[in-house]
Amino acid sequence: MYIQKQRLLTPGPTPLYPPALHAMMASDLHHRTDDFRNVYKSALADLKEVLGTSHDVLLFAASGTGAMDASVSNLFSPGEKVVVCSAGKFGERWVEITKAYGLDPVLLQAEYGQAVSVERVQAALDADPAIRGVFVQASETSTGAAHDVQGMGEAVAKTQAIFVVDAITGIGTMPLDIDNWGLDVVIGGSQKSFMIPPGLAFATVSPKAWAFSETSKLPHYYFDFKKEKKNGDKGESSWTPATSLILALGAALRYIKSIGMPKLVENAQLLASATRDAAAALGLELFAASSPGSSVTAIRAPQGMDSGVIVKEFRKRFGAIIANGQGSMKGQIFRIAHLGYFDFADLFAVVAALELILHANGVDVEFGKGVAAVQRAYARAAVQTPQPVAG
Ligand SMILES: *Cc1c(COP(=O)(O)O)cnc(C)c1O
Repeated sequence: MYIQKQRLLTPGPTPLYPPALHAMMASDLHHRTDDFRNVYKSALADLKEVLGTSHDVLLFAASGTGAMDASVSNLFSPGEKVVVCSAGKFGERWVEITKAYGLDPVLLQAEYGQAVSVERVQAALDADPAIRGVFVQASETSTGAAHDVQGMGEAVAKTQAIFVVDAITGIGTMPLDIDNWGLDVVIGGSQKSFMIPPGLAFATVSPKAWAFSETSKLPHYYFDFKKEKKNGDKGESSWTPATSLILALGAALRYIKSIGMPKLVENAQLLASATRDAAAALGLELFAASSPGSSVTAIRAPQGMDSGVIVKEFRKRFGAIIANGQGSMKGQIFRIAHLGYFDFADLFAVVAALELILHANGVDVEFGKGVAAVQRAYARAAVQTPQPVAG
């Protein structure tokens, strides 16, 4: 092949929304000016609007993990008991962060590919009324599994604990009713459904969570919820903000508002469901078959094949970067992303490429079988739901 376009198809960073990239070129401005205060204020207001919450939203110059770290250091105290649901590499990150800050995590672990049930969370809360917090991933990006955060939120809401949700890939891929489901802290990051480069993290904070910030005894400095809230209300950030990314976020949020958050979610859900159909048509096994989410679909490599070969061939033959498994899942699975700026044309190409790669590696595939499954999903969806119009 002579021309090969580079395509970023990972579940973060995700493909970039071009007008958001163009907006970044206007970053020759100073952050302590009214021009920037207006940009910052409208980004915060739009973020609140697309998230559909009345809770405060705090923005940080950090990757998503920065807001995860901040949610622990601002709301908890050393020695406090918390429940941590861990179903993959990102759940393990909650375990590491809570331990790093001296909390006492009760671990609810699920095997990779499985989800932690609401019943287990309920039982852990019933067993110990001293539990101060429950941590989970809405979507466990490393395995493709999703958690029932609505059910968990309702269980946590009845206790004195707060519910801290890493929704970094849950936002934009599943409905999240932050205010009514008892999601006290919801964490997001720029490089996932928001279609812009990495470097911004945010957290929503409920009134119940704010009360925790009054009693928290953990030290923190750069990530300071109260300080950030006070400054945010004035259209400022506590420290020098990532101005270029905030300009990009503004453009991406205008786009998301124009199609509507429910449509963005539906887009990811349709692509995920079509991907599952394609996997079935090709005789491939899903990794998170019992609770598949819509941010990413993890698929097992065919028997005897290293998934790294598929990942490498995507890059070599088609300039496309797809995700391998992480940790012990490396070599076992590959992951096809759906969150943010992905469409059906992307998926037709991904599945066609996958068929070619499998065939070239001696796997018995009939060309077009997976693609046809995606085409049928598209045809079905086009009847029931008009596709969002790019703006
Ligand atoms: C991407 C991601 C994060 C954040 O990772 P960073 O590298 O810090 O941006 C956290 N949780 C989940 C579920 C993610 O997908």
